[in-house]
Amino acid sequence: MGLHSLIFRAHSTSRYSIAALLGSIETDPRLTHIKVIAPIGSIERAIEQGLKQGSVIVAHSVMSTQLDRVKEELQTTRGRFGKDVVMIAGGPHASSRPGELLDIGFDYVAIGEGESIFREFLWHMDNDRDPTTIPGIVGQDSHVFPAPRELERVVLDKYPPFAIGLNIVGPVEVTRGCPFRCKFCATPFLTGGVVRHRGVESVTRWLKRAVREKGFERTWFLSPNALCYGGRGRKAEPEKLERLLKNVTAATGIDVFFGSFPSEVRPEFVTHELLEMVRRYVSNRTLQIGLQSGSDRILLQANRHHTVQEGVNAVEVARDAGFIPHVDMIFGLPFECQDDVDASLQMCRELVNLGAKIHAHVFMPLPGSEWENMPAGLLNTRTRQLLGELARKKKVTGSWGYQESLGRKLQRHD
Ligand code: SF4
Repeated sequence: MGLHSLIFRAHSTSRYSIAALLGSIETDPRLTHIKVIAPIGSIERAIEQGLKQGSVIVAHSVMSTQLDRVKEELQTTRGRFGKDVVMIAGGPHASSRPGELLDIGFDYVAIGEGESIFREFLWHMDNDRDPTTIPGIVGQDSHVFPAPRELERVVLDKYPPFAIGLNIVGPVEVTRGCPFRCKFCATPFLTGGVVRHRGVESVTRWLKRAVREKGFERTWFLSPNALCYGGRGRKAEPEKLERLLKNVTAATGIDVFFGSFPSEVRPEFVTHELLEMVRRYVSNRTLQIGLQSGSDRILLQANRHHTVQEGVNAVEVARDAGFIPHVDMIFGLPFECQDDVDASLQMCRELVNLGAKIHAHVFMPLPGSEWENMPAGLLNTRTRQLLGELARKKKVTGSWGYQESLGRKLQRHD
């Protein structure tokens, strides 16, 4: 019996992260006979039914913060179906700690960007070929695990941004990769320093289809730094950015959200001219600005390549251009002394007085980031008090308590 089904375990928090992957699979003519489903709830019944008709692959996209849940689900699936199902893991944790996922029981792990290699994996499984011959796929007998940077980078335009057929239609990733190397961030490890953009024609074509076939009324663009669209990531390319926004809004008539959470902008990219232009096209009222610390010393340590003052300037410019600035701040960063903590707290007060809202995070040693071996961030009493006070005034959002405990778990996995 050939490969009958791919069951992609989707979770409500990661459903959209698999949209592009499933889009790539559903548009590969070699794979159209494979039944692909992505249930949010239990997958047991789907496996049972699939096994009656052929072989079944179960795939999990694993973020480092979800490891406990994934491990539990893997054990449940194995306990019930044993080796009758093939299990593969992908996603950020697969790229940074593939051996760990093989150790907990996955048969295969997909390292790096999935659009191309996952298609190949399915074709190999369907044709009884060894999938570990595909660069980026490792299995129980593999001894060498490549880093994502050693693998071929995906050209976004070659693949759909989402899966229209499967009705998993989410935000459009318009930019992948980041030339900056902030030490708390895993993006440079996972997607590399070479910035790639989805072309205007591709974005427009897919969104027109989503409007026509799925009744799309709005879309979110994803980017590590929204204002870098069209260039190499180190400076803005206003004409290219305007071409994207103008064409998409004119051709589709839908609301475009760009530069708001979960995307953000780097402070030094923010200028009045640029925001005036962006404001003409986008529907978001908020602009997400990554400042991260109120201490220049810590920004330097973290390799941020901007100053605190540039962050303050960006907030003022954003506010004057008609956006509500939402500022990302990370508490508990490595190497902070009391003065640095106080500087961040003081900065939060100033930013709120300027009309901003704070998006608070606690430092987590993310696998793949340069600071993956640093101790997880802990909030001191004064920080907790300020966050509580700002929360009561609805001036701060974030899950700092949850991130504090997740950070400790990540540390434990070292
Ligand atoms: S935090 Fe942003 S700018 Fe820094 S490396 Fe990550 S994606 Fe790039």
